[in-house]
Amino acid sequence: MFYLAIKVRQVLPIVIEAVFFDLDGTLLHMNMDEFLSKYIKALSDSFREIMPPDLVKNSLRRAIIAALTDNNPGKTNQEVFIEQFLLGTNYSPQDLLPVFNSFYNNEYKDLRSFTQPTPSAKEVVDKLAGCGYRLVLATNPIFPRIAILERMKWAGVDSAPWEIITTYEEYHFCKPNPGFFAELLSNMGLSGAQALMVGNNTNEDLSASVLGIKTYLTIDNLIDRGDSSYEPDFRGKLADLPSCLEQIQP
Ligand SMILES: [Mg+2]
Repeated sequence: MFYLAIKVRQVLPIVIEAVFFDLDGTLLHMNMDEFLSKYIKALSDSFREIMPPDLVKNSLRRAIIAALTDNNPGKTNQEVFIEQFLLGTNYSPQDLLPVFNSFYNNEYKDLRSFTQPTPSAKEVVDKLAGCGYRLVLATNPIFPRIAILERMKWAGVDSAPWEIITTYEEYHFCKPNPGFFAELLSNMGLSGAQALMVGNNTNEDLSASVLGIKTYLTIDNLIDRGDSSYEPDFRGKLADLPSCLEQIQP
């Protein structure tokens, strides 16, 4: 029986069940560096009543870098972020949470003008949902859920049947750490071969291949900082993803 099982696995191709979508630069076009700089400026303006702008900017940069690079599986990215943001201040997380929430409910929405929605995002996501693919919004989890949901609205993909959205409240690693993809696969109950990662960053998104996840590099808003040794399995425009899947699926 064992022999038979192994033989069947070798003969039958693995079917991709789930598609993991990056958000920024993939479903929602933007100049990431410009967006981050506007975000840091807007957030530091919102904190001006309680912290000097320069302190907010430095704390924010330190907190983002810490959340991006921390490898401790016992701490969520939010815990790392808040801890680093509060370093050197007398504030507690409870003091700052209302300020963050107010920012994301108000000023954050103005950052929409620094993004360019692409019509193919909704079309592609809806089409794949209609084909029965399980969908994951696999954005880099350095933002709270409220901020990710807002950007999904800007991209026009907020109403799709997302099974998981990777938020900083829930995830413990960031791309390109393969631990991020391992945690996601575990939450989905999938092996790497059952998923396809779609993204625009040659390092952050293509590192999924370490887990055996197939990768589709979108070229519409490509980011290649020369820091990647990964090769995508497929590359093309986001709009061409459904036809690519039709060709590779048995
Ligand atoms: Mg991206």
